[in-house]
Amino acid sequence: MKFQDEYRDPVAAERICTAIKKVTTRPWTIMEVCGGQTHTIVKYGIDELLPHEIELVHGPGCPVCVTPLEIIDKAIEIASRPGVIFCSFGDMLRVPGSDRDLFAVKATGGDVRIVYSPLDCLTIAERNPDRTVVFFAVGFETTAPANSMAVYQAKRRNIKNFAVLVSHVLVPPAMTAILSSPRNRVQSFLAAGHVCAVMGYEEYLPIAEEFKIPIVVTGFEPLDLLEGIYRCVCMLEEGRIGVENQYTRAVRREANLPAVELIREVFEISDRKWRGIGGIPQSGFRLTPAYAEFDAERRYAVDHLEVAESKECVSGLILQGLLKPHDCPAFGKTCTPESPLGATMVSSEGACAAYYHYGRFRGERQPETVYTIQGQEPSPCRV
Ligand code: SF4
Repeated sequence: MKFQDEYRDPVAAERICTAIKKVTTRPWTIMEVCGGQTHTIVKYGIDELLPHEIELVHGPGCPVCVTPLEIIDKAIEIASRPGVIFCSFGDMLRVPGSDRDLFAVKATGGDVRIVYSPLDCLTIAERNPDRTVVFFAVGFETTAPANSMAVYQAKRRNIKNFAVLVSHVLVPPAMTAILSSPRNRVQSFLAAGHVCAVMGYEEYLPIAEEFKIPIVVTGFEPLDLLEGIYRCVCMLEEGRIGVENQYTRAVRREANLPAVELIREVFEISDRKWRGIGGIPQSGFRLTPAYAEFDAERRYAVDHLEVAESKECVSGLILQGLLKPHDCPAFGKTCTPESPLGATMVSSEGACAAYYHYGRFRGERQPETVYTIQGQEPSPCRV
């Protein structure tokens, strides 16, 4: 398929793997930030193609996985109220709350609907003037423009029976929190290309400077990831710090200004809790005072609700790169996609779901692949 096959070319992959092997002299730990990148890595076995010195650990960039339990409980509470049409992207419906999920609310008569765009909620609201449509506004910087647009349009079109339950988080503060931890193992990041397509990558430059690390903005196809890893390894081996952009077909240094202006119109930066990780200062969005009337937490008075996270689920440690899914005692036993204990087993971007679906039940790596080089070898650090 055009625009896909060329990024999955096995000959090119082999060439980059060989180049990575050639430049690697010591152990390095690299974190891919985004859960979409994790799924590509596990699905295509990219981690198993690398030299044994290179370890990939999986980051917190799965919005479903890091949405706190108390927000899920708030969603369930709101969705159970009479007169509410609760709309969400599909992944969120199976995320376990304290005692049930949104599918259970739907099964017991709640009007819970899957939407593909937050703007669809405005149409539903206009068609149901006697009910209130609540959209579960979850995500990173990638979904913030569309979610902002829905709230902005609701205000402009005077749609009063619409509200949002906001759980927006931001990537750079999470990277900073991981790097600041005394237990941190991450020496370099593959930054999430789609986040940078909205925000640019200027905000990563101070992180690279402060923590003296290389960051490579990377895409989502196998060759994107291999090239991103290659660039990280080159920078690590050469002692270079800074930010490089592998995903040039979608990302510029500067932000997408119209998108960012719209986000700033509707949202302001606030402290946020991350599931399994805890509170990270200035790591998310909340509605600005001008749009507070659309805040579902206030409208339904659930903003006081607090619950304790499950002790059994260690997803917070997985998303900080400290454990792998198969290190969790519940993985594949009491926790499966059919009966998940944590969000990382549910989400299509969750690390536990990736390990389960692609059969990574043990910690051992396969014997290192030996490549036959076809054609000319790339020169070191120049694929
Ligand atoms: S396997 Fe299940 S319980 Fe264990 S960390 Fe993953 S989601 Fe949590």
